[in-house]
Amino acid sequence: MTRESRLMNTFQDPGFVAVRAEGAYLIDDRGRRLLDFVQGWAVNALGHSPAVVRDALAAQAARLVQSGAAIPNEPSRALAAELTRRADLERAFFACTGAEANEGAVKLARKWGKLHRAGAHVVVTATGSFHGRTLAMMAASGKPGFAEMYAPRIEGFRHVPYGDLAALEAAIDESVVAVMLEPVLGEAGVRVLPEGFLREVRRLTEARGVLLICDEVQSGCGRTGRFFAFEHEGIRPDVLTLGKGLGGGLPLSAVLCREEVSCFEPGEQGGTFTNHPLLSAVGLAVVDAVGRPEFLARVREAGARLEAGLRAIAAEVGGEVRARGLLQAIDLPGVAARDFAARAIEAGLIVNPIPPSTIRLMPRLDSTDAEIDEALRILREVLAEVRRV
Ligand SMILES: *Cc1c(COP(=O)(O)O)cnc(C)c1O
Repeated sequence: MTRESRLMNTFQDPGFVAVRAEGAYLIDDRGRRLLDFVQGWAVNALGHSPAVVRDALAAQAARLVQSGAAIPNEPSRALAAELTRRADLERAFFACTGAEANEGAVKLARKWGKLHRAGAHVVVTATGSFHGRTLAMMAASGKPGFAEMYAPRIEGFRHVPYGDLAALEAAIDESVVAVMLEPVLGEAGVRVLPEGFLREVRRLTEARGVLLICDEVQSGCGRTGRFFAFEHEGIRPDVLTLGKGLGGGLPLSAVLCREEVSCFEPGEQGGTFTNHPLLSAVGLAVVDAVGRPEFLARVREAGARLEAGLRAIAAEVGGEVRARGLLQAIDLPGVAARDFAARAIEAGLIVNPIPPSTIRLMPRLDSTDAEIDEALRILREVLAEVRRV
């Protein structure tokens, strides 16, 4: 295996190469089996190369890989029907990445604003939020320095502190067309909105006549223990975006919306890989597996086991744990997250470091108790090691 790389320098080299993977484990070029509690950033909902994904891929690949975006196909219609039914929304559009789905949601909101809100186009988002890496989504994201990185920044986004209702209320004026929120901030280290907050936002946006867009690219598709994260609050957004786990490892994302909001005309939105049959067939199989009540109950149970273990660790070091289903983070005060994650790999566990000292965990949704216990054991071991030095 060559260690030289002609890939652009966009990631810190972890010092190993992924060769193959199965379930909870990733096998590297030295033959190490690493327990993977990142799973491609919450992408492999059912772990690495699950039979559900392999079978759906093989069956659909033999029938129809791509029809072309302008020629309808059965799998994307079936997935649209299934997701809109589950979300109690009416229309769907499929793309490949979360950023693209969010761009689609913002375009939809701007079009809707032109038609129904006198050209209002500003979208209010939260500080600390992450909505993707296109130029517009970097401007939408509330990540420090992100909007200016490739100046000039794209206009039309206004940020308010995450979870601050008064600030949100003050930010909504005539120019605003939508509020876009992650029900759980993923990239910022798993920050859960206070109980009742999303309900208040729903009430506020309805009263002001602006759209509520929920970005569930990370928190949707069972990750939080409900199929959609907004279900925890018993609300319905006007527009919903999904990605990551939806494709079970393949690049599939979605924009769902209410019928009244579905205002694109032919030619206004699209993409070469839009409504892709092969990706949709895989998405349908993933949704069918993850959406079962007993599966989601098990996600909550596994989540509770992981959370309890993390809380025990946190109690010893004065840290904090934030958890929703199997999206969890632990703050380890005084511990350098990147160094911790590198040592965790040496000990056989892949975790996601969020500097300065947060570790984020996103294991497969069908994690076993044994995998969770093994991860907790390694976390303890690594923590003891870094606190000794
Ligand atoms: C990952 C993520 C995105 C971007 O998805 P990509 O597929 O990387 O474009 C958008 N929103 C949230 C909440 C995410 O976690």
